[in-house]
Amino acid sequence: MQTHSQNDMNERVDSFKKLCRKCALRVTNQRVEIFRALAQSKEHPSVEKVFQCVRQKMPNISLDTVYRTLSSMEEAGVVFRVGLSNRARFDADLTPHYHFVCMECGEVYDIFPAFGKEPFWTAEQVKEFGEVKNVNLQFHGICNRCSKAANDVKN
Ligand SMILES: [Zn+2]
Ligand SMILES: [Zn+2]
Repeated sequence: MQTHSQNDMNERVDSFKKLCRKCALRVTNQRVEIFRALAQSKEHPSVEKVFQCVRQKMPNISLDTVYRTLSSMEEAGVVFRVGLSNRARFDADLTPHYHFVCMECGEVYDIFPAFGKEPFWTAEQVKEFGEVKNVNLQFHGICNRCSKAANDVKN
């Protein structure tokens, strides 16, 4: 698993706390630990994965609490929900990026396009409706690993 350095992590926790305050979300120990578990991983972990990680520090926490906390954080806009609707995954990386989601295995891959002057890509028409604050764009398909596996079975 790829991990970020400790300094980088402290910085991210600090900006997470600031963002919580801005979004009127109370900064609790639980939320900080859940954010830390999420931010440590580059894999867009599922609720279960976050739970397994947080549990090491907070042995009394329940899966349900982790789920509810992640949902409230998502509603407040301090984390993103990504992936397939029946296999939700979470992302603490709020820098503008898109995702490729595999419809087969549910894996979520990051896409960081070279953004120009705009902070993210939008269709021209979007501007008719208002000012864009964020983009949640997912490409759904079959990942290379899954299509390779399917081909290997056929051959
Ligand atoms: Zn796949
Ligand atoms: Zn992502």
